Amino acid sequence: MEVNVKQEQIFDLTGGLLCLDFANTLDDRTDVHPQELLNSYNDLVLWSQQADVLTEKEARRLLEKAAQRPSEATRVLKRAVEVREAIFRIFKAIAEDESPEDEDLITLSAMVAEAQKHAQIVPNTNGFRWDWTDKRSDLDCMLWPVVRSAADFLTSDELETVRVCASDSCDWLFIDTSKNHSRRWCNMKSCGNREKARRYYSRKKSSSAVS
Ligand SMILES: [Zn+2]
Repeated sequence: MEVNVKQEQIFDLTGGLLCLDFANTLDDRTDVHPQELLNSYNDLVLWSQQADVLTEKEARRLLEKAAQRPSEATRVLKRAVEVREAIFRIFKAIAEDESPEDEDLITLSAMVAEAQKHAQIVPNTNGFRWDWTDKRSDLDCMLWPVVRSAADFLTSDELETVRVCASDSCDWLFIDTSKNHSRRWCNMKSCGNREKARRYYSRKKSSSAVS
């Protein structure tokens, strides 16, 4: 049976970094009802394909394997969400000038150690790049570059560029690469405009209350 791999862009990749885009797969985090975007192993594969972690061919192969090993796919999804939450809490803490919890660093480190077992260096046109072995067989292979991205960012000089969206309900993470370090929203179109509208209406409301 041919597994259908959807082509349209479903996920909003505005974090500027793989690990942050992964952390942003939960919508409306601070809302009473956050919206989970990774509801199935298929969702995880689709996100990975859109984030360029998997090629279409690799995505299709993984979906076929997951259909044969459903309980393993469920375990991988659970692990993915666990590590996503650890990544989110670590970088949110840093964005707010706080120290991440040891437990989250341990979760990330364990996943990095697992990923490194599959890391290999391969030549490309400009020199060399990281690649991964066993991408054909391991259902959790999309998590390896994600956790590596988190580890690399965490140990980099760029760490101070991490921000959390200024919108009340969002909590998405992004890197602020703007010249004057003034980016406040994950996405100007959605959160930025929503915030502007909210301020406009609250100004209107308070001015009408005065008159
Ligand atoms: Zn936002």
